Amino acid sequence: MTTGDELTSYAYRKVRERILAASDVCIVCGHGAADAVDHIHPRSKGGAKLDPDNLAPIHGNAGCPVCLRKCNNEKGDRPLADVVQLHTSVDWFAGP
Ligand SMILES: [Zn+2]
Ligand SMILES: [Zn+2]
Repeated sequence: MTTGDELTSYAYRKVRERILAASDVCIVCGHGAADAVDHIHPRSKGGAKLDPDNLAPIHGNAGCPVCLRKCNNEKGDRPLADVVQLHTSVDWFAGP
C-alpha cells in the first residue's frame, strides 16, 4: 500500500460517507446495501473525483447481498452508461 492514494484520502472518505448516508442503492444493480461509491464519469475520462454529483453508491468488494454481483468490479473504469443496461427504472438519486 502506498500512502497518499487519493481513493483512501480523508476527503474521499468523507464524501463517500455522505453519499452512502443519503442512499445505499447501488447504481449498477439497483439493490440496497451498497458499501462503496464509484464515479459516474470515470476519473480517467475527466470526471471530478471528489464531486458528490459524480459519485454514486455501488457494491464494493463484499458484493451485493441480493444478486451477489460484484458491481464495482463489473463497472471498473467504464462509463456508467456502458454498465447499466437500463434494465432498472430505479431513480438512484431519489434516495430512500
Ligand atoms: Zn450492486
Ligand atoms: Zn444487486
